[in-house]
Amino acid sequence: MKIDFVDLKRQYDSIRPEIDLAISDVFDKTAFILGEKVERFEKEFAGFCSSKHCIGVDSGTSALALCLEACGIGPGDEVLTVPNTFIATVLAISWSGARPVFVPIDPETYTMDPEGIGDAITDKTKAIMPVHLYGQVCDMEPIIEIAEKHDLKVIEDACQAHGAERGGKRAGSFGDAAAFSFYPGKNLGAYGDGGAVVTSSQEIDERIRMLRDYGQKVKYHHDMMGYNRRLDGLQAAVLSVKLRRLDEWNGMRRANAKLYDKLLNLTGSRIQTPVEAADSRHIYHIYALRTDSRDALMRLLNENDIATGIHYPIPVHLQKAYSGLGYKRGDFPVTEKYADQMLSIPMFPELKREEIEFIAEKINSFQSRSMKS
Ligand SMILES: *Cc1c(COP(=O)(O)O)cnc(C)c1O
Repeated sequence: MKIDFVDLKRQYDSIRPEIDLAISDVFDKTAFILGEKVERFEKEFAGFCSSKHCIGVDSGTSALALCLEACGIGPGDEVLTVPNTFIATVLAISWSGARPVFVPIDPETYTMDPEGIGDAITDKTKAIMPVHLYGQVCDMEPIIEIAEKHDLKVIEDACQAHGAERGGKRAGSFGDAAAFSFYPGKNLGAYGDGGAVVTSSQEIDERIRMLRDYGQKVKYHHDMMGYNRRLDGLQAAVLSVKLRRLDEWNGMRRANAKLYDKLLNLTGSRIQTPVEAADSRHIYHIYALRTDSRDALMRLLNENDIATGIHYPIPVHLQKAYSGLGYKRGDFPVTEKYADQMLSIPMFPELKREEIEFIAEKINSFQSRSMKS
């Protein structure tokens, strides 16, 4: 049995007639950039996130960068985030001209530890960028409290968290603005690059609408120096079809995660399964295990044709690109230790029960073998 890390074909097969129809409609109307399909998707996605506005853009990284710029963050400012994230979070901060400053993660949920924020705040700090890693919303209540106390903006990196909730509130509805990615493998994925900002601030909405489209509100009237960072009509048409199924697909991911949890949590197990916080609705963009014998387990799974991933093998503060920030090994012990322990196993809605059972069986045989030795 060969099991891919993510199988996008199964999902396409399940919605093919609707997708094909939506795409041919875009061709018929030749509405390739922005336009009707994008406007419609923006309304739908704002509603999905319990937010007032949504602005479709060309990637999640662009969405993050536009949020920062629209919040007035730039050179001389500092933005707090975590070293345990995909590089794009930090690149967006660098593009704005601000300096990324890292804070520790919570050892159980792997997301930003609110307790660690205080020490990192200086008079240059302007914003906090929490990352809803793997599909679990950060502990936002204390983060928002700290932000309000210090007059900081909060920009959520919700690129892995479409439809995730904490305390009954949806990802994207906590901060001043939030960024989503529609990279094909994300829980809501386009058939190419795409992204969106959601915000309930009219001011941020207006600024980002202009920034993504050459700084114009009226064609050829450029009120600011903007960019070309627009969402395609084709991608929006695909996203509208898929959005109708997203809650159901997230539910399937959760059911898959619960089955993994049940099968893998044997007595004496030395494998840590993901921890879902009590008030959280985790949507398992990634199902990441943690174990001391990561490399050996990865080898065994790969030998059995089971694909795996590592999210992420090198914490951002230790990446070569960021050596200039002056961090060193030892600065974030939990993140550094976990980078050697994390192992992501296949997770997508259409994963079959027998596939999950097969994967769990291999992992458990590995456990009993390594426990005997
Ligand atoms: C995917 C991702 C991004 C970037 O999104 P792109 O659409 O690939 O630009 C940013 N942050 C996180 C946490 C992501 O997972």
